[in-house]
Amino acid sequence: MPSASLVRFRTAHLMNDSLGAIEIRALAEKLNLKPAKSLGQNFVIDANICRKIVRVAEVSSTDHALEIGPGLGSLTLALLTQAKWVTAIEIDSRLANELPLTMALHSENAKNLTVINADALVVQEVPNNPTVLVANLPYNVSVPVLLRYLEKFPTLNSGVVMVQAEVADRLIAKPGTKDYGIPSVKAAWWSQMVNAGSVGRSVFWPTPNVDSKLVRFTRRPTPGDEELRLNVFSAVDAAFAQRRKMLRSALSSWLGSSSVAEAVLQRAGIDPTLRGEALEVDGFCAIARAKQEMGIGF
Ligand code: SAM
Repeated sequence: MPSASLVRFRTAHLMNDSLGAIEIRALAEKLNLKPAKSLGQNFVIDANICRKIVRVAEVSSTDHALEIGPGLGSLTLALLTQAKWVTAIEIDSRLANELPLTMALHSENAKNLTVINADALVVQEVPNNPTVLVANLPYNVSVPVLLRYLEKFPTLNSGVVMVQAEVADRLIAKPGTKDYGIPSVKAAWWSQMVNAGSVGRSVFWPTPNVDSKLVRFTRRPTPGDEELRLNVFSAVDAAFAQRRKMLRSALSSWLGSSSVAEAVLQRAGIDPTLRGEALEVDGFCAIARAKQEMGIGF
């Protein structure tokens, strides 16, 4: 009779621990799945990319990894080899139901997976304090999903997300560049975002008609409390809604009038003739603080 550890060893070596093009297509056929554009269903068919993402995210054996949109499971499988636990949130019930079965076939760590069948944009709770976010995000909701998880799940210390290349450029953009905008400043409130490399179209099925990039983030202490954040985010929305206008004019509706806007900007030490695209998140914090100090309500 072989020992339990020998059985585990043999099982692990018999398991195919990667999901490539053949396995992904077979799974899609089994489920009679026609990938839905509306759900951003472009599945990774290259196990090396999944392993790279997990490596870049520096997932360790003490991590609880959170994956949004696991799809057919290629990235989930790579996560299960490294993380202590994996929680995956998938909106498509066919995919959510299949995922534990696929992982049981391919991973000896399948028991460490929890699947939540839900829209990631409405999930309020994830058990066991996830520490790292790793996801090939559905492209149509990538920014709201990322900002929501940074806001709602403070135990997420870091992560790597794969997003459309243009979205990645916006997330990592610096003031004064064409890509700098609302996602850049809001993401900077929570974290430092850096480019972690480009991903070719050929690693997906079906092949998307956009390029992709990896963005790595590391959480930083927020510059202020929740009241300040709400004011900062409102200021950012107002400033970039009319990004070609000077701040004194762009912030006038939000602050009541252009003369109030001018007074707030002066108190904040910000030149009222600047545009929002010139300011780092700290500049928006100075405006929000000045507004609060002057007792100007919403
Ligand atoms: N992670 C898989 C991979 O890399 O092959 C699939 C990634 S695919 C780009 C996006 C996945 O997100 C799909 O499985 C899709 O069904 C799912 N999805 C789309 N919108 C979602 C939402 N609002 N909440 C949760 N999952 C969503």
